[in-house]
Amino acid sequence: MDTNETMQRRRFLVLAGLSAIAIPVVLRWPTEAHAKAKPLPPLPVTNAQAHALNYTEDASLVKAANHKPGSNCANCQFFTPSTGACSLFAGYSVAPKGWCSAWSKSNRPS
Ligand code: SF4
Repeated sequence: MDTNETMQRRRFLVLAGLSAIAIPVVLRWPTEAHAKAKPLPPLPVTNAQAHALNYTEDASLVKAANHKPGSNCANCQFFTPSTGACSLFAGYSVAPKGWCSAWSKSNRPS
């Protein structure tokens, strides 16, 4: 084996070793997509749209004629359980036990 071949083999082994270390590190490097999402702020009941839709954080207190017993944000089609978001109130979370007059029954399995 000549010196040049030995150098190439040594270089290959060094690069292979570095790759074995670097690839797992790069694959686990945190990215924005992996960063934990910031929780949404709760929807203020004083929000104009919330007020217009009679939003409340406690559905058990609702006296509205169109309120169906047992209906709340947690079983509304506009609610996202993983984030507490409501698609009607972008940028906010709503109370799972809340309710508003836009409530519509969810098809999510309960
Ligand atoms: S639309 Fe549904 S999830 Fe959103 S506030 Fe009203 S009842 Fe709650």
